[in-house]
Amino acid sequence: MPTIEFRNVSKSYGKIKAVINLNITIKDGEYISLLGPSGCGKTTTLRLLSGLIQPTEGEILWDGRPIQNLTPDERDIGYVFQQFAIFPNMNLWENVAYPLEVKGLPEEEIEETVEKYLELVGLVDRAHLFPHDVGAADLQRVGIARVLAKGAKVLLLDEPFGALDFKIREKFQDELRGIVKRLNLTAIHVTHDQSEGMAISDRIGVMKKGRMIQLASPMELLFRPSQIFSAHFIGESNFIEGVVYKKLDDSIVVEVIGGFKITCSSNVRSFLVGDRVVVGFRKTFSRIVEGDGENAIRGEVVTDRYLGEKRRILVNLQYGMRIELIVLPHIRRFSRGEEITISLDPSVLLVYNYPREGLDEALEVT
Ligand code: ATP
Repeated sequence: MPTIEFRNVSKSYGKIKAVINLNITIKDGEYISLLGPSGCGKTTTLRLLSGLIQPTEGEILWDGRPIQNLTPDERDIGYVFQQFAIFPNMNLWENVAYPLEVKGLPEEEIEETVEKYLELVGLVDRAHLFPHDVGAADLQRVGIARVLAKGAKVLLLDEPFGALDFKIREKFQDELRGIVKRLNLTAIHVTHDQSEGMAISDRIGVMKKGRMIQLASPMELLFRPSQIFSAHFIGESNFIEGVVYKKLDDSIVVEVIGGFKITCSSNVRSFLVGDRVVVGFRKTFSRIVEGDGENAIRGEVVTDRYLGEKRRILVNLQYGMRIELIVLPHIRRFSRGEEITISLDPSVLLVYNYPREGLDEALEVT
C-alpha cells in the first residue's frame, strides 16, 4: 500500500559495505524483486526497511515520512522467511490468531480476521489441522496469513519459496502475486531464482556489491538491459569487444576482433565513431542459418550438449572468438568441427560503452 523511498541509504558493518548509496522508490502496490550474487546486499535492504537494522547514512521514507524512529513493531511490515516460525503445538487457526491475541484484540475481531486471511490463502477448511499434518507450502501460507492478519501493508519476502518443490513454487508464485495485488500491498521479494523474479515482479532490482545496478521491468531487463551487468546476470549473454567503425542514420557498425563488422540498430544513437564498446547478445537470441543472413558469421562447433530442456552449442567463430548459443532441442544436432553460420539480428544486439573498470570486473559475479 505505501510508497517506500530509500534516499541515499548506506549500511556498513565496520569495513564491509553491505549497501551503498541506495536510491530507489517502490511505488504504492508495487511488487519488486531483488536479484544479485550472494552477499550483494539484498537481505540487508529488507532488514533496513523492517527496522531490524538502522542505516549508517541516508533515510527511508514511508509515504513521504521518515521511519528511522519507528521500531520494527511500529512499522506495518510483514517479514516472511524461507523457514517460517510456525508454532508446532498450535493448529493453523491458532497460529494465525496468536499475534492478535497477544495484541489483546476482542474475540470477535480475532475470529473475523483469522477467517478472512485463512480464506485468502485457501486454508480455511483445514484450519483445524496441525503443522505436522500439512506440507511446506501450506506452512508458508499460514505464515503469510499471520503477517497479513497482523495488519502488514508491506510484505518483505526473503526466499519465501526456498523450501518448496519446483512445481509447487510456480503455483505459489501466482498465488502470492494475486494476494499482493488483491490487497494492494507493497512487496519486496528476495530470490536467487531469476525465473521466479521474472514471473512475480512488476520490477526487478539487480544488485551487485551493495549497489543497485538497475531497477527495471522483467521485459526491459530481458530485452533492453541498460547496464552490462544486468545483461550478464539476468539470463545468459555473449559479449564481444569492438570499436564503432561507422555511424549510419539508425544504426552503427562495430568492428570486432579480426575485423568482423556487426551492424547494431537498437539504442545506438549516442555512440560515436571510434568509441570502444562491448556488443552483447543473448545466447537464446542468435539463430543458426543456412547460407548468408544479416550479420552472418561463420564458426566451428566445439560441443553440442543437452542441458535440461535446451541445448548448448559452443562455437569457435572464424575471427577467433568463442561464443555459446542456447537452442531448442528439436533442431538437428551438430557434430564437433562442423561449420555453421550464425546470424545476429541487429535489433537484438546490445551495445555498451567499454566499462571503465574493465570487462572482466564489470561482469564479475562474486
Ligand atoms: P545472500 O544472497 O547470500 O543471502 P545478500 O545479497 O542477502 O546475500 P546480505 O546478507 O545483505 O547479502 O549481506 C551483504 C554483505 O553484508 C555481505 O558481505 C555480508 O557478509 C555482510 N553482512 C550482512 N550482515 C552482517 C552483519 N550483521 N555483520 C557483518 N557483516 C554483515
